[in-house]
Amino acid sequence: MDKHFINGKWVASSSGETTPAIDPSTGKEYGRIALGTVDDIDTAVRAARHAFDEGQWGRLTAAERGRLLQKFALLILDKKEELALIEARDTGKPMTVARNDVDAAARYFEYYGGAADKVYGDTIPYLTNHFVAVVREAKGVTGHILPWNYPMQMFGRTLAPSLAAGNATILKPAEAASASILRLAALASEAGMPDGAINVVTGSGSKIGTALAAHPGVDFISFTGSPEVGQLIQKTAADNYINCTLELGGKSPQLVFSDADFDLAVPTILRAIVQNSGQTCSAGSRVLVQKSIYGEFMERLGDAFAKVRVGSPEMDFDCGPIITDKQRATVQKFIDNALAEGIPLIAQGSIADGVDIDGFFVRPSLFGPVPHTNSLAQEEVFGPVLAALPFEDEADAIRIANGTDFGLVAAAWTKDGGRQMRMSKRLRAGQVFINCYGAGAGIELPFGGTGKSGHGREKGLVALDDYSNLKTIVIQHA
Ligand code: NAP
Ligand code: MG
Repeated sequence: MDKHFINGKWVASSSGETTPAIDPSTGKEYGRIALGTVDDIDTAVRAARHAFDEGQWGRLTAAERGRLLQKFALLILDKKEELALIEARDTGKPMTVARNDVDAAARYFEYYGGAADKVYGDTIPYLTNHFVAVVREAKGVTGHILPWNYPMQMFGRTLAPSLAAGNATILKPAEAASASILRLAALASEAGMPDGAINVVTGSGSKIGTALAAHPGVDFISFTGSPEVGQLIQKTAADNYINCTLELGGKSPQLVFSDADFDLAVPTILRAIVQNSGQTCSAGSRVLVQKSIYGEFMERLGDAFAKVRVGSPEMDFDCGPIITDKQRATVQKFIDNALAEGIPLIAQGSIADGVDIDGFFVRPSLFGPVPHTNSLAQEEVFGPVLAALPFEDEADAIRIANGTDFGLVAAAWTKDGGRQMRMSKRLRAGQVFINCYGAGAGIELPFGGTGKSGHGREKGLVALDDYSNLKTIVIQHA
C-alpha cells in the first residue's frame, strides 16, 4: 500500500516519502501510502501514453476491451468481502455501505464493458463524389482526481467509461482514501489489464493534483471534490487546452407537499442525509416542507432521526465516522454555529456505546426551521446534518429550492400529477426525483450538476461522449 501502481508494477515515490493511512473509527495510523511527487506523475503519464500510443492496450479491439472490463467486474465481485474490509478500515464506512460500493464498482465495469463495442459514428450525405464518415476515437490519456467519500464507486464511475472508450488512465485518489483504489488497480492487472492502462499515483492533492491537470501528456481531466479545487483544476486544464468534467457537490432539496405520502417520504429523506454519514455529493441536505403539514411531518422525521445510530464499520449501523479529523471539525462547527445562533435542534442521533473515543464521530442532527439565508441552508456541510425549511406554496418552494449556488439533485414528494410535472421542469438540478430519491444506484442514469455543482455528465451512455473525440473523414472519389 505504500507504493504507487504504475505500468503494472508497484513503484516507490521518487522522494522515498510516505504518509499515514488513518482508520477514521480509531483515529489511528494503520498503514502508509506513498507521498507522490510531480516526477511520479510524469512517470505515470509516460506509462499511460506508451500503453495508448504503442502498447498492448491501444491495440485491443473494442470487443476485447469490453470483454476485459466485464471480466474485471466479475473479479471485483469475487473479492467483494476483501475489498469491503479494505474500504471500511480506510474510510470508516459501515460494512453494508462498503459492500454496496463494491457492487456498484463492479456494475460500472459490467455496464461500460457491454458498451465498449457499441460506440460508433455516422456517415453524412455530402457532395456527390465525396464520402464522409464521422468516427469516434479515444482521447488518449485521461486523468482522474477522486474524492474520499465513495472511492470504489468513483473508480468505476470515471474509469470504466474512459477505458471502454479506449483511453489509458491515471488516478490521483484522495490522500484519505487510497487503499481500495490501489487494490482495484492491481486486481485489474490480475484480470488481464495491459500494463499502463490504469496507473495510480497517491499523495497530496495540492502537490500532485494540479500537476496531473497541467501535464501536456494528459488529454482530459475528471475531477470530483470541492468547488474551490474544481475551479483550480478547470483553470489549469484551460492553460493545458484540455476539457474537464467537474462534479462538485450540492445542497440538494427535497420538497414535501401537503399531499405527500409520509410513509414513503420519511425513511427516504432520512436515508438521503445519513447514508455514508452525509458525505455524499447528492445528499438530500435540505428538506422543504409545506407550512400546513410542517409540524406533523417534522415530528415524524424527528422521531426517525432520533433513532439513528453511529458506530464503527463492524457495528454496521446507519452512520460511520467522518473521514478525517479535519472534516469532523468542519461538520461539528456547522452544528455548533447553528446552536449558537439559536436555530432549533429538532432531533439528534446517538453515538453507540463502545466506539473508540478517538474516532471521528459526530451526532446526526436535524435543525429547523432554518432561515433560507443561513449557512446551514446555503453551504454544503458534507456531514449528517439536515436543514428543514417551511414553504407556503409551489412558487415559494421553487424560490427556496433554486435559491442556492448549487444544482445537483432535487426531489418532490406529491401525489398531484400536474405538480409532479411542474416540479420536474422548474427545479434547477441535473437529476430530479419524484416520490423517490437516490442518485447512487442508477448507473444507467446521466448525472451531474449546474452552477457550483459543476458541469459535465457522468453515468449512462452519455458519459462515453466526454471520453472520445469525433473525427470527420472526407474522401473524394472518382
Ligand atoms: P478537495 O480538496 O476538493 O479534494 C478532492 C480531490 O482533489 C482529492 O483527491 C484531493 O487530494 C484533490 N486536491 C486537493 N487540493 C488540490 C489541489 N490544490 N490541486 C489538485 N487537486 C487537489 O475536497 P476535500 O478538502 O477533501 O473536501 C472538502 C469539501 O469538498 C467537502 O467538505 C465537501 O463539501 C466537498 N467534497 C465533495 C465531494 C463530492 O462528491 N462532490 C467529494 C469530496 C468532497 P487530497 O485530498 O489527497 O489532498
Ligand atoms: Mg483513510
